[in-house]
Amino acid sequence: MDPLAILQAVPDWVLLGLAVAGTGAAGVSGAAWRVQRRRAQALERSLFTVTHATDTTVDPRSGLLARPEFDNAFNAAASRCRQRGGEICLMVVDLDDFGSVNDTLGHRAGDKVMREVSRRLAKAAPAGSAAMRMGGDEYVLMIGGDIEQAKRVAAALQELLAEPMALGDHRLQLTASVGIAAYPTHGSRARLLSCASAAMRSVKAVGGGDWAVYDPQSAVDHQLQDSLLADLRVAVEKRQLELFYQPKVEARSLQVTAAEALLRWHHPEQGMISPAVFVPLAERHGLIGAIGNWVIDEACRQAGVWRKAGLRMRVAINLSAYQMRQDDVAGRLQKALAANELEPGRFTVEITESLALENTRATQQTFEGLRRAGLHVAIDDFGAGQTSLAYLRQLPVSELKMDIGLVRDIATSGDARVIAEAVIRMAHALEMRVVAEGVENAAQRDLLVRLGADELQGFLFARPMSARALGMWALDPSNARRGGEQGGFRPSLYVTRQANVA
Ligand code: C2E
Ligand code: MG
Ligand code: MG
Repeated sequence: MDPLAILQAVPDWVLLGLAVAGTGAAGVSGAAWRVQRRRAQALERSLFTVTHATDTTVDPRSGLLARPEFDNAFNAAASRCRQRGGEICLMVVDLDDFGSVNDTLGHRAGDKVMREVSRRLAKAAPAGSAAMRMGGDEYVLMIGGDIEQAKRVAAALQELLAEPMALGDHRLQLTASVGIAAYPTHGSRARLLSCASAAMRSVKAVGGGDWAVYDPQSAVDHQLQDSLLADLRVAVEKRQLELFYQPKVEARSLQVTAAEALLRWHHPEQGMISPAVFVPLAERHGLIGAIGNWVIDEACRQAGVWRKAGLRMRVAINLSAYQMRQDDVAGRLQKALAANELEPGRFTVEITESLALENTRATQQTFEGLRRAGLHVAIDDFGAGQTSLAYLRQLPVSELKMDIGLVRDIATSGDARVIAEAVIRMAHALEMRVVAEGVENAAQRDLLVRLGADELQGFLFARPMSARALGMWALDPSNARRGGEQGGFRPSLYVTRQANVA
């Protein structure tokens, strides 16, 4: 790369960041700032003449420091802090929903955005800061100030990111999740980055677009998570995972039409752990691929057993974000279905609304693969996120699962009822069946039937249960029950050949 081009691309403040190593970070006065700037310029000269501006000193995509330079700056600032007192802060800045920019607008646009984000980081950061891009859309900023100052920087950064960016015909508005950790308050130099990352993740978990300071209380969670993760790595091979199944019933007849497979982890010490806890953990740490494959194989095996026993209900599995981005998930499902002599049309994959709306090339390919394989696709948790009806129309989706949040207040709130009615009408107009999840009482059930929901699922009918329990449940005709006066399996779906129901 042309050294001059790099030089032009490097903002002043990055060079100030380099100079931190020599000058100390905290509380920079005007005079000190000028000294710093001169040093920075000297460093700039030496950096670019001595090293010939190799890519090892600056990240060419963002124009920020490369990792070793950032680490040097951070270590030097931390040493100075130890000697003189005071605090420095690390801020992990992770852009929200950035994944689709490269896919939809191309890599050149992605690069342009990187540079613009770097420029805005520079604007928000005080003198004496240093920054690097940690990979992907994650940046780390070190500021020579205390937590209060870091909070102000985070707030300023959110404001700057909210200003629309022009990319050809597109206008892009970004938000970021920012995690803040202070040295030496929150931990050793070596741990500080993971503390700031943990704080960033806590922001992501509640929707992003905000900042959070590392909470030492959550350190306990942190340790627990680490040990849980170690256990999860061996959970598949130690056969600690199990699929439970929850029936879906036809709204009017209350006959069972399908069963959704829901993961359970039998932890040797902690007992049963919810997928709401370990699925996101597995996603974050690259374990979901193996777990997801196990779910596909196991659900198909079980569906094969049920089919042979005459229990011809549809089986549904949940696909994770990671699986949707893999190019082989449809093929894998096809193979598992064929191995168990199952028709693809009797199998459903549930994909959360937020994931369906991701609309990247990778997810589009997976949707196309699922359609070609003849599998049914359901949008899960519909109504929990932002909805793009225009986009949903283009997807090969045959089922819409109304989120529990829409169902919960349906019997007590007029607004909730109006929304549910609109969702059902819209889904029918798009030729999708509507499944209402989280149905817990008869009032909700009656209303949903009246509003035209096609299928219902919830504790009112049955909780998720083991495959064996579901087999028994299906065999007991009095299980029409809790959900209503009639029910049970549709005679057409369930033939009373009862052997081998496992
Ligand atoms: P989901 O797919 O939307 O599943 C519905 C969740 O609601 C299940 O929680 C179910 O037990 C619960 N539920 C069902 N009826 C009721 C009700 O009447 N009231 C209430 N309060 N809850 C009800 P569960 O089993 O804990 O699963 C949570 C989430 O974990 C699932 O949400 C799904 O997103 C994810 N998950 C479960 N199994 C898998 C899997 O095999 N792969 C992937 N990627 N994710 C999974
Ligand atoms: Mg589901
Ligand atoms: Mg759901």
